Amino acid sequence: MSHEDFPTQNPAVVTCGLPYANGDLHIGHLRTYVGGDIYSRSLRTLGQETAFVSGSDMHGTPVAVNAEEEGVTPEEFALRHHEKYEATFPRFNIDFDNYGHTHDETNTELTQEIVRTLESEGYVYEKEIPVAYDPDADQWLPDRYVEGTCPYCGAHARGDECDEGCGRHLEPGEIENPTSVRTGNPAEYREREHKFFAVSDLQEYLQEFIDRLEGTSNAQNQPREWIEGELQDWCITRDMDWGIDYPDDDEGELVLYVWVDAPIEYIASTKQYTERVGADTFDWEAAWRDGGDIVHIIGRDIIQHHTVFWPAMLKGAGYTEPRAVMASGFITLNGKGFSTSRNRAVWADEYLDEGFHPDLLRYYLATNGGFQQDVDFSWSKFQERVNNELVGTVGNFLYRSMLFAYRNFEGTPEADLSAEVRDRIEEAIEEFEAGINDYSIRKSGNAAVRLAQFGNEYIQRNEPWKLTDEDPETAAQVIHDCVQIAKAVAVLFQPVAPDKMQALWEQLGEDGAVADVGVDAAFEAPAASFDEPEALFEKIEDERVEELNEKLAERVAATESESDESEEDADDDMEADSDLEPIADDRISFEEFQDLDLRVGEILDAEGIDGADKLAKLTVDIGVEERQIVAGIKQLHDLSELAGKKVVIVANLEKAELFGTESNGMLLAAGEQADLLTTYEDAVPGTKVQ
Ligand SMILES: [Zn+2]
Repeated sequence: MSHEDFPTQNPAVVTCGLPYANGDLHIGHLRTYVGGDIYSRSLRTLGQETAFVSGSDMHGTPVAVNAEEEGVTPEEFALRHHEKYEATFPRFNIDFDNYGHTHDETNTELTQEIVRTLESEGYVYEKEIPVAYDPDADQWLPDRYVEGTCPYCGAHARGDECDEGCGRHLEPGEIENPTSVRTGNPAEYREREHKFFAVSDLQEYLQEFIDRLEGTSNAQNQPREWIEGELQDWCITRDMDWGIDYPDDDEGELVLYVWVDAPIEYIASTKQYTERVGADTFDWEAAWRDGGDIVHIIGRDIIQHHTVFWPAMLKGAGYTEPRAVMASGFITLNGKGFSTSRNRAVWADEYLDEGFHPDLLRYYLATNGGFQQDVDFSWSKFQERVNNELVGTVGNFLYRSMLFAYRNFEGTPEADLSAEVRDRIEEAIEEFEAGINDYSIRKSGNAAVRLAQFGNEYIQRNEPWKLTDEDPETAAQVIHDCVQIAKAVAVLFQPVAPDKMQALWEQLGEDGAVADVGVDAAFEAPAASFDEPEALFEKIEDERVEELNEKLAERVAATESESDESEEDADDDMEADSDLEPIADDRISFEEFQDLDLRVGEILDAEGIDGADKLAKLTVDIGVEERQIVAGIKQLHDLSELAGKKVVIVANLEKAELFGTESNGMLLAAGEQADLLTTYEDAVPGTKVQ
């Protein structure tokens, strides 16, 4: 792709998908915000001029429906959640330069201005469409006010989104068998005049845009079919009171669809930042109107909005298109989905109340699995990562080398940096830089951890404790090297663990904020003297984890017995509820099991099947031959990363034809996220599974 590497001469804007003002934050939600914060901090460390912005998404039908249930105005309801989010993010060191909300004046004015521009550029037209209407309640039923059947895949769907099926955005009038969410009445369709944004006029532009777009591969692969297929125009108005009024609408009946004004908050929030700090510090217009580097960090459920509608709107209104979209996978809890209704969640506040430092969770979320993969959280895994890597590798290296330096030299001994260590620090900086340019915060975050690992190995190999008497010069050299490594770790690990690395910076006797220095500081001479260091990370004991697991299990059990039939929350986009099924009653004989010919296979190649949202075509080596197998994993895995993976397949399943493609065998996978079954050690392809 054609963009130049970061750092560039352009101002960059890093945004996080707006949290919807309608619930509490759990640690699954935090992945996007922690990811965004790490990414923007890393860009700054590279020397990139950067603004990091977001805001609360206040409009739309879920807020209206829930406010109505609580008997408060939608504004009151949404503001309450907005204030809570605004207070929670800083507690996790998620440090937005500006955090606004979509109902404020800046966003309202900017949204209306952009819609006027789209109108004057000829991208908006009126059309009569069928709109769901509840005749008994005498009410229009936009979006979440209506439920029914998805016309594309037949799944049960919400009015604006096929959330349980194919994931498509649904236009008003598309949903079949509509019923009113409020009354349960069957709804009818009535003709109504609405405004449409002619996305289809921008099809050619979007086709080129998607080829230029950087970020995680899911954000380019998923929308490609939509863009290359028949692109539908987009109804941008709704029959509601709550929202931003359609500009110059004389009857005052229509508001803008929430997905029009929500992403515009990215611009509005940047504008507010400029208004506060001055255009000399950050110029929002230079970024948004004159080719800034815009990076959107979102959950993968809103890829379509950010790669089709949003760039089309920006193009139509003369704003800068996104350079990159990074779409994160979801987080499960102990292998199951978070469920806010069943209280099966680790809440953001709760995590902190348990006394854990936010930087530990930041590290876990950033480096446990690639950004676009689904990741499981459990207290045991959390403990493992903290104890092994943060305590065992990073903390251990820093403490032992600085303590040695303090005791023998009261700081950094005088010596020149050795060529070996200079090269290794340079390598770490390159890894860090490559991570940022590959949009992989795991890679950039691990650069410092790997450097600390090298530090441990270096000090162990050189044994300075044996040299202090017989060869003090070499001892000084080794310890000087180690303090330099510690300083480089502080610089490169600051984006992931800002508090802890600031503490390290101060322990090293450095002035100011480590967040303000660039990568070059990793090579600058360390301070000559510093005090006795303290351990930065503490081990999490097994008893603590048991206690936390019990607490969570008790709470889930309590909520489930309270309301076994508790209705699913409509509030939670991240929710992926998947209760475990009971074990089947019928036992089978060993002979019956042996009828299945299960084999180890190795994936040679994986590609999507055109026209099928979920299906991928795999070539699998099963030792005796190569098989073509169709599997429903297209949106759940990064297909380009599958080659070389071991899998387990049913080799004697009858052949089937799916979407015109023959499938000769079946891939075994667990759960709705299709976690692929693989082998523990190195069984070769063709090995029988028994
Ligand atoms: Zn569907």
